[in-house]
Amino acid sequence: MTTTPEQDSDSLDPQQWDELRAQGHKMLDDMFDYLQQIRSRPVWQPIPDEVRGQFAQPLPRHATDLTQSHDIFMRSILPYAIGNSHPGFMGWVHGGGTPVGMLAEMLAAGLNANLGGRDHIPIEVERQVLRWVCELFGFPKDASGLFVTGTSMATLISILVARHKVLGPEVRTLGVAAGGKRLTAYTSRGAHGCIAKMMDMAGLGSEALRLIPMDNAHEMDIAALRHAIASDRALGYTPFFIAATAGSVNTGAIDPLIKVADVAHQEKLWFHVDGAYGALAMLSPDIAPRLAGLERADSIAFDFHKWGQVPYDAGFVLIRDRAQHRDTFASPAAYLRRETHGMAAGTDWPCDFGPDLSRGFRALKTWFTLQVYGTDRLGQVIAHTCDLAKYLEQRILATPQLELLAPVSLNIVCFRYRGDDADHINAGIVGALQESGRVAPSTTTLDGKLAIRAAIFNHRTNKADIDALINATLELGTAKMNS
Ligand SMILES: *Cc1c(COP(=O)(O)O)cnc(C)c1O
Repeated sequence: MTTTPEQDSDSLDPQQWDELRAQGHKMLDDMFDYLQQIRSRPVWQPIPDEVRGQFAQPLPRHATDLTQSHDIFMRSILPYAIGNSHPGFMGWVHGGGTPVGMLAEMLAAGLNANLGGRDHIPIEVERQVLRWVCELFGFPKDASGLFVTGTSMATLISILVARHKVLGPEVRTLGVAAGGKRLTAYTSRGAHGCIAKMMDMAGLGSEALRLIPMDNAHEMDIAALRHAIASDRALGYTPFFIAATAGSVNTGAIDPLIKVADVAHQEKLWFHVDGAYGALAMLSPDIAPRLAGLERADSIAFDFHKWGQVPYDAGFVLIRDRAQHRDTFASPAAYLRRETHGMAAGTDWPCDFGPDLSRGFRALKTWFTLQVYGTDRLGQVIAHTCDLAKYLEQRILATPQLELLAPVSLNIVCFRYRGDDADHINAGIVGALQESGRVAPSTTTLDGKLAIRAAIFNHRTNKADIDALINATLELGTAKMNS
């Protein structure tokens, strides 16, 4: 029993801490139960209108019990999540999260730290993660970087730093048009859509991103890259940025990083790596050699919330040239003055390296995850999901009704059930699989063919889940062919 003297009834803190404590413990237990028993739940289930309707209420002017609000959470929110914590979830690129990450998120919320700047240890925790990342990726010790929402934002920051480098500081005051240069950037056709979106947001236009053809392995074609750069130069454009992908969203392909780095070096272009999910494969000694060249990047965008299993969101941008990075974002402001001592001590604050001034403590759940599990273990999880993908590939190749649609590079497998009108049949199979609640892949289109796309990211997924995917696909496919 804890009693607090002089309870201030105007504050939002409870009058009865004991009640809150009991309720809090119950909420924590409910989440432990949820994670412990996740396998017994459906991955996902269709949302009844009645449930959706509960979230169309007017502004709550009056108080509702925490207990009652938590009941609504348990009944109407928790059961209707997308299911990426579930071992049967294989859609898109989603991490599974961990109980440790969940606990750390609670600690961070309790501390309520703002990591925009100032002198406090939460910022040192973020700097610690930055130093770990530099070590992992073979970056210089004085490289800069920070947590952001995700790879999309990390990509925008990378493009802005590269843009600042090529256009000079005037771009910040006069805008992109002032220099009279027409900048162009390069990435593979298989690259993630956020690169084009961020070219647009950087004021350069999505069409200034040239989409380079891929080879049979879905990797960027280097001869085509060289050719595109040369023809743009001949037309008076200013090439400035190449984005290679380490682990593509569709098929998990890794662009030839060393060759792209060579081209960037020879052409004096910024070398960016979209390592959204794949960069953390550096944690696996078996896969790391395939990412050689990553250490030559000028910038890397990646997410701890995918293969790193840190709860959403925990994106990260790493920039080799700290001065260039700071000069792209730092702005003087009277109320952000740096002092020699006191709370405002220190020079480089995270707000000098990106658009955000208020920033949460994403570093803590990441620090806890790396620290508590250890990076060897996280690397083993990554390698294991690749082994499961290989197993799925073997099963597909051994099943005449199924067709493999792309080489399996890492942990993503694209395949389909063979037959007439295969696009229609396979879209139907995926919809039915998702509604079954047992295993949930998503779809993509490869060379005009609709594919069942299974992306194995969750540390909870096992061989039985892969078997369930194959068996259910065959059952559904057979039924659809006969209907
Ligand atoms: C997920 C992903 C992105 C986008 O990252 P967000 O964290 O969702 O912004 C970009 N590229 C690849 C290859 C991805 O897998």
